[in-house]
Amino acid sequence: MRFCRFNKDRLGLVEGATVKDVTAALDVLPSHRYPLPTHDVFIANLEAVVSRVRSIAPGASAQPLDRVRLRSPVANPGKIIAAPVNYEKHLDEVRTDGQLNANNPGHTLTIHKAGLFLKATSSLVGPGDGVVIRKPDRRTDHEVELVIIIGRTADRVSSDEAMACVAGYAIGLDISIRGSEDRSFRKSADTYSVLGPWLVTADEIPQPNALDLQLSVNGTVRQQSNTRHMILNVAQLIELASSIYTLHPGDVIFTGTPEGVSPIEAGDRITATVEQIGSMEVVTRAADPVAPAAITEQARA
Ligand code: MN
Repeated sequence: MRFCRFNKDRLGLVEGATVKDVTAALDVLPSHRYPLPTHDVFIANLEAVVSRVRSIAPGASAQPLDRVRLRSPVANPGKIIAAPVNYEKHLDEVRTDGQLNANNPGHTLTIHKAGLFLKATSSLVGPGDGVVIRKPDRRTDHEVELVIIIGRTADRVSSDEAMACVAGYAIGLDISIRGSEDRSFRKSADTYSVLGPWLVTADEIPQPNALDLQLSVNGTVRQQSNTRHMILNVAQLIELASSIYTLHPGDVIFTGTPEGVSPIEAGDRITATVEQIGSMEVVTRAADPVAPAAITEQARA
């Protein structure tokens, strides 16, 4: 099944080019009081939601997908985990391009040495929200990636056990400012983690390590590869991540980008495609000027 979140927190069941509004299925979710759980409640209860969706979908209202605004299919991931250099040819381009490595030796290590990193959860948006270029004076790149959505609690799982922990997959954009700072800083600006266009449940993608992926900017193809070229595959990434932090339902793992990263600027139209998931269009725009009220408050301080 394919689930999207659209408009103002509607749950959608994606069928071809239409979306059925199955928001009523969220009634099966438990209610919570403070302190809120550190997992995503929708993903943690996905089986119960799926069961309810099956019963209400036949009578649900449908509309064309291209008429709705797509949000991140996971609303509240506890962690956004990301693989820094998980394709050999991307590592090659980072090593040879001074703009990509910023003379930081830490940027040219293999994933076995570099490990994983975290992106701020406040950076997460859906394709319909768009990317707001935060630092127009800094080189800012696109990175298309397959994203794993974790479905159950996983602490120190082996790669043999890892696939049972996957709820589904989505397409991710790991938008990255180039420079010397830590990855967790450069890649965590508001809107710099795009997840979409929907979640495809794991049963529909039995071979996640053999998917074509592609990214184009304004119609020109910039990145084109296949997840078979990942250095650590899906199961190995889950093993590595869960060796350090317990994974919770709704945690997401960006699996790394292939070669071909290049700069974007306000006004660009990015199209990202992953085989068996679909395509998403993401428009970039300039940041609004800081609100006058905020400037006034700063001046008073
Ligand atoms: Mn990346």
